[in-house]
Amino acid sequence: MTLEESLTGKLGKNIASASDAELYRALLAYVKEKTNERPLTTGNKKLYYISAEFLIGRQLGKNLINLGIYKEVNELLEKNGKSLAKVADEEMEPSLGNGGLGRLAACFLDSIATLDLNGDGVGLRYHFGLFKQEFRNHKQYEVPDRWLSEDCCLTKTDVCFPVTFGKTTVMSRMYDLDVVGFKKGHTKLHLFDLDTIDENLVKEGISFDKTQIEKNLTLFLYPDDSDKDGQLLRIYQQYFMVSNAAQLIIKEQKELGHDLRRMADHVAIQINDTHPSLVIPELIRLLIKEGISFRDAAGIVTGVCAYTNHTILAEALEKWPMSYLNKVVPHLMPIIGGLDFGVVCAYHDNHNLNIIDGEGKVHMARLDMHYSHSVNGVAALHTKILKHQELRPFFENYAEKFNNKTNGITFRRWLMLCNPELAGMITDLIGEDWMYNAAELERLMYFHNDEGVLRHLDEIKRHKKEEAALFIKEKEGVDIDPESVFCIHVKRMHEYKRQQMNALNIIYEYMNIKNGNYPARPITVIFGGKAAPAYYMAKNVIHLILCLQQLINNDPVVSRYLKVVMLQNYNISKAEVVIPAADISEQISLASKEASGTGNMKFMLNGAVTLGTNDGANVEIRDLVGIENIYTFGKSSDEVINLYNTNGYHAIDFYNRSESIRSCVDFITSDELRRIGDDSMLRDLQDNLKNKDWFMTLLDLEHYSSVKETAVFDYQNRAKWTRMMLVNVARSGFFSSDRTITEYDRDIWHLR
Ligand SMILES: *Cc1c(COP(=O)(O)O)cnc(C)c1O
Repeated sequence: MTLEESLTGKLGKNIASASDAELYRALLAYVKEKTNERPLTTGNKKLYYISAEFLIGRQLGKNLINLGIYKEVNELLEKNGKSLAKVADEEMEPSLGNGGLGRLAACFLDSIATLDLNGDGVGLRYHFGLFKQEFRNHKQYEVPDRWLSEDCCLTKTDVCFPVTFGKTTVMSRMYDLDVVGFKKGHTKLHLFDLDTIDENLVKEGISFDKTQIEKNLTLFLYPDDSDKDGQLLRIYQQYFMVSNAAQLIIKEQKELGHDLRRMADHVAIQINDTHPSLVIPELIRLLIKEGISFRDAAGIVTGVCAYTNHTILAEALEKWPMSYLNKVVPHLMPIIGGLDFGVVCAYHDNHNLNIIDGEGKVHMARLDMHYSHSVNGVAALHTKILKHQELRPFFENYAEKFNNKTNGITFRRWLMLCNPELAGMITDLIGEDWMYNAAELERLMYFHNDEGVLRHLDEIKRHKKEEAALFIKEKEGVDIDPESVFCIHVKRMHEYKRQQMNALNIIYEYMNIKNGNYPARPITVIFGGKAAPAYYMAKNVIHLILCLQQLINNDPVVSRYLKVVMLQNYNISKAEVVIPAADISEQISLASKEASGTGNMKFMLNGAVTLGTNDGANVEIRDLVGIENIYTFGKSSDEVINLYNTNGYHAIDFYNRSESIRSCVDFITSDELRRIGDDSMLRDLQDNLKNKDWFMTLLDLEHYSSVKETAVFDYQNRAKWTRMMLVNVARSGFFSSDRTITEYDRDIWHLR
């Protein structure tokens, strides 16, 4: 049967007369059929990648690419007066993640399948995801993200496990998502849920009764944990996730007839950050039930588990009070106690290694480091900081466990799908090999002085900027000019990522323009990102940006040189539109704080030039492209760490010493902005910047402004700029998640 016959059959009518929604459902069914023609990947050893988040993005376009039928489908729809882009727009974006960590898990699944590795993902099926961000009165509001629908990509299974919390036992249900690799490979993402969830529990915004576990367990990802019930709920979620994972693993091992004592030969578990850490005691508990001794079980589990650290931010390192764990998972407490006892005996001279600290808190990362055989950071600089600063006592005892795996991204989504024009140009120049081995992109260097190639690259960028401008006009109602330099700063809102520094620079530009000093070329600054609902400062930064957007875009003079856009509800779908349109990639975190970043890699791959600090994977980008093809600024991670250690940073000194910094910070509470915004929010933000500024915005602000000015000036020199673009694309092959996953398998999993 041809594609056309199959679709027509599913539609019960011809393609030309079908609606986009009907076509979406028909294509979904077609993709399921094609996927099931591919056998599931098998092997002697299987990986379970456990993660609280999988930010997988819309599935249709990616699946068509990976099945190798994108072009065929696209042409058939066009022939019938339909647009695949419009049909794909019918799909709701799965809301199963928060930011980089969840997106990494999604890129990894794509690469695991593509490399035909035997590995599945395990996570939770959140009904309302993180939350949907809405702007009203220049402020963020949170509402449920109602992404689940009848025709979504998940398949209900009849796999169910009992999960016990103290005196109550609930019955889980597994939902599966097919993960189809590029041209080959087929694995699964297993998402667990309860049949008893009551969506009507959610009343105002995203608040709900946090005590009724059977009804609320999987309503939201990262429910508000500012009170005790919220923290308990997170522990309930985490245990539910890992208990299901552990039971699934044991069930599959038994079905295969494998000896559970040899589990380390047949199973690898990757613990993505600390959320799945309870898998360690849970698996030990289940092995003990199978008749294995505690000691042996602990040894087996250590051989199976590997832990990835994603952050050094203290507030993100989970530690749960024993009393909370006692309430949720009393049956794990003897095991956690036993594991801690083993540590205390072995390392009695160093209390910093204890899993349970003197205040009775259980440190999840410490549990992971003692009882995993591998601990990895996510970029070279990050791993170095872990070894020599944050996790030094662990590195001293377990040097052999520590390793680096610099993050990566899947080029299927972040180039082929979102920028087919650039992907096509690359293939025309160097053939298709790069799709199978991203290092081949290096061959583009051959063209770095080829005027025709550079002009073509420039035309593609221009086209993507025009597309993004249309999208922004339609979705956000803001007019932007593709002639201007697009500086794009999209990522979660967090003080360490320093969106506030970019906002202060916008104020600086605004005042310059008001004084008749115009930038070398008009600038458009595009922001996007959600703030955690309880993170007041991050919400204040959003507020400042939205107020600046209002002030600047409506100023008849300034708006000719400067525009500001804050995208509402930044997600994968919006990322796919704006990243290919970027001229300048803003990666301006305080050095040492961004573990890796993956946004930086997506921009580089799409020919943007990085304006960044020497942080996370920016350092590796700089080493790959050379200092002449990146704009770096700011204090180094060593200097920053030293400032923290010596309490040597005082924002107010920078404020007092520099007239220019002072006028920018003062402007936050100017009459102009207070007319638009909320007095107390603006004042609190200003106070924080002057008197606290934990992430040292004022330390790097002037250097940032001057280097950004240089970048905008250089942009005028099109020959120079387009060559920089080409070098960035050519050297981005290292950041393919296929490379990252090959290294995980080589050094940690050994699946082959
Ligand atoms: C890649 C990505 C991120 C991570 O961006 P960073 O700049 O690395 O923080 C967050 N959100 C979305 C939607 C992404 O696609």
